[in-house]
Amino acid sequence: QKPAIATPLRTKAIVEAYNLNFKKSLGQNFLTNLALLQKMVAVAEIGQDDDVIEIGPGIGALTEQLAQKARRVLALEVDQRLLPVLAETLADYQNITILQQDILTANLAELIDQYLPGHQQIKVVANLPYYITSPIIKFLLQQPVALSVIVVMMQKEVAERLAAVPQTKAYGALSVLVQHQRKVELALKVPKTSFVPQPKVDSAVIKLTQATQVYPPLLSSTAFSRVVQGCFLHRRKNLKNNLQSLCGKDETTKMKILASLETLQILPTSRPEELTISQFINLTNLLEKNNL
Ligand code: SAM
Repeated sequence: QKPAIATPLRTKAIVEAYNLNFKKSLGQNFLTNLALLQKMVAVAEIGQDDDVIEIGPGIGALTEQLAQKARRVLALEVDQRLLPVLAETLADYQNITILQQDILTANLAELIDQYLPGHQQIKVVANLPYYITSPIIKFLLQQPVALSVIVVMMQKEVAERLAAVPQTKAYGALSVLVQHQRKVELALKVPKTSFVPQPKVDSAVIKLTQATQVYPPLLSSTAFSRVVQGCFLHRRKNLKNNLQSLCGKDETTKMKILASLETLQILPTSRPEELTISQFINLTNLLEKNNL
């Protein structure tokens, strides 16, 4: 029985055997902390009925742990050089498919049809490439396919932003847009010593599940991201000023903005971080109705 890929010695041996140089530009920091990977798999509650999509398998450390619990694993890796490595490190597992694919241009629905036919629950579990964490989260949340659970590792600061509540420094557009769609939990903290090479920052694992909170209905989700991002554009500016930068500074627009805020009983001098998700929804709907 070979030691797990995630053990420091095996990782070192694989890296040396293939003479791999880590590509910083692709966010290549490989996990060498087996206990932590097992905790991540436990957080995702992977069982025999679950199919898992992994983004960026690297040399297969997490992929291997997933394959031991899941029905099937579909792993998408952009770096061509890692394909022969993965073919060897994961050769003993019959339930893994590895594709050379950039996640951000993937047609997930088609890939799922092709590689995970007859699926029940599909979960995403990944140690993300940090340079594209937010684009990947947004991409996953826009998918027409049901991803029941998403468990992803990222830079600690980004994880804190995702999980942040109003009236805190970390609360921003990302918190609002993600929490509107999913329940967000900060599941694990991960020291930078868990990786080879060591990144400069600590990491954390976020778990996204079906939203449990009920919000007012939204007229347009495009308008919602525009308004939320616009409100947080200059965090130090108040809501009125940010909304004027977003919607226009002519007198009629200014009046309409003030009237909308008054209807919602929101002070024009409020800071964006003071608004709850429901307030952002009501504000978006009213601005839409007022053609702003
Ligand atoms: N899963 C491995 C682990 O935990 O040790 C590696 C994680 S490493 C932080 C991120 C991985 O994502 C790298 O293998 C990198 O090549 C891959 N990657 C980077 N950009 C990607 C993209 N756009 N699509 C798919 N994979 C990508």
